[in-house]
Amino acid sequence: MWPGRSIRRGPFQGEGNILKNTRVYAFTALTALTVSLSGAIAPSAHGATDDGPVTKSSDAFAGSRAAKTVDTKKIYDRIVQKLPADWQSRRDAARAKLKIDESPVERALRSKLAKAAAAGKASANVIDPTQYDCGPTKLDAYVDSILANVDAGNLQLLSMLGALDAPTYDAILFGTSNGAGYQLLPAYQDSLTSTFGTAQRFWDVRLNDVQLMAMHGEMVVDENRLASTVQYMYGVGAADATDIARDIITMVKSDNALRNGKNPIFTLNAFAFTGKGDPDPVIRKQKDKMVFGDGILAALKALGLNQVGPKAVLGHEMAHHVQYEDGLFDNTDLTGPEATRRTELMADSFSTYFVTHKKGLAMNPKQVLQTEESFYDVGDCSFDNAGHHGTPNQRKAASAWGAAVVAYSDNPYRVLPSMRLATKFDKVLPELVKPDAPTSIEAYRAAAK
Ligand SMILES: [Zn+2]
Repeated sequence: MWPGRSIRRGPFQGEGNILKNTRVYAFTALTALTVSLSGAIAPSAHGATDDGPVTKSSDAFAGSRAAKTVDTKKIYDRIVQKLPADWQSRRDAARAKLKIDESPVERALRSKLAKAAAAGKASANVIDPTQYDCGPTKLDAYVDSILANVDAGNLQLLSMLGALDAPTYDAILFGTSNGAGYQLLPAYQDSLTSTFGTAQRFWDVRLNDVQLMAMHGEMVVDENRLASTVQYMYGVGAADATDIARDIITMVKSDNALRNGKNPIFTLNAFAFTGKGDPDPVIRKQKDKMVFGDGILAALKALGLNQVGPKAVLGHEMAHHVQYEDGLFDNTDLTGPEATRRTELMADSFSTYFVTHKKGLAMNPKQVLQTEESFYDVGDCSFDNAGHHGTPNQRKAASAWGAAVVAYSDNPYRVLPSMRLATKFDKVLPELVKPDAPTSIEAYRAAAK
């Protein structure tokens, strides 16, 4: 869960950064779903207390049962023996502390369940899912495709052990912009670096301390790096962590479809991180970061959005850094899913404002449409989940509004102060989240003024 948003106007009002619990704001909605998984996957009979190891998969998960060279359940049991008795709560606590939205595979599973769940449920205080036409996007089909040959049981065991979070932990704890294991792939290096510099100069807050880097899934088969994240997650000693890392690597390597960590599922995200004001010195000393997973870049390419998508994502993540600097996460009365949805849709709007603006990337109308499409495709239908980023339609509407603010500006060379843009956004937000919110730029002519 993301508890930070409920703290707004307390006695520590002036210490917003200290109370600000959110550290990692991501591009896609990847949030915990241990409970809802039980409907999709039958736990084994040995009585695990949370997700439960998978012994069979249902139709809800398209993963196959690949021919395995090793018994991964046996390895899993051996790992659990080495872990402290409360390993699951330690895993969840580490995740909560770094505010890691949960693994992409869990999101993938959820998206398959969301529609069925939404049909029979209406949350009084959030939104009524039945009012929304929300369904799978091209991203869901992409996730299906990359998991098609993956052994579902093995993947779920890896997920439970936190292996799918490992690249994220690794980037947060050890990543640096010039570190050998964190370099952007050559195909993206120039374009993202240049866009990053433009975005840093575009906004009226200090962004030159943010480090741009990549996360590569191959770290999950790097014994030393994986052992370091295992140590952090579970608080085990170095020797046990190494043993556990070796076993996890064996599990990964047992399935060719995981491609030694190169399967995009390990890195299907991008995120903005800040450790500022964190009570934990290990987190507090970390530099502000913007991290691009190889998986999300591969996904955008597969969706036909390779030219524009990565820049839109970068704009979104930089918007989160603007929000950190402006204190915009705390500047709201909203809580839970609605609070997350607000800052996420705002990031979509800010990103589109940036890529459209003459002083930003000055994209042409066709590219702006692709930007809107990028946000549409990563929308989710997890209405009542704390990680809800907005539906595909809402994300597209937010993007269209951002473009409209540029299109209908009196002075196309003037960049609005970020707080002013945020205030305008908060005003239009109720329109953007309506079930029938329009998604054309023209429709926001009046609201853009
Ligand atoms: Zn985000």
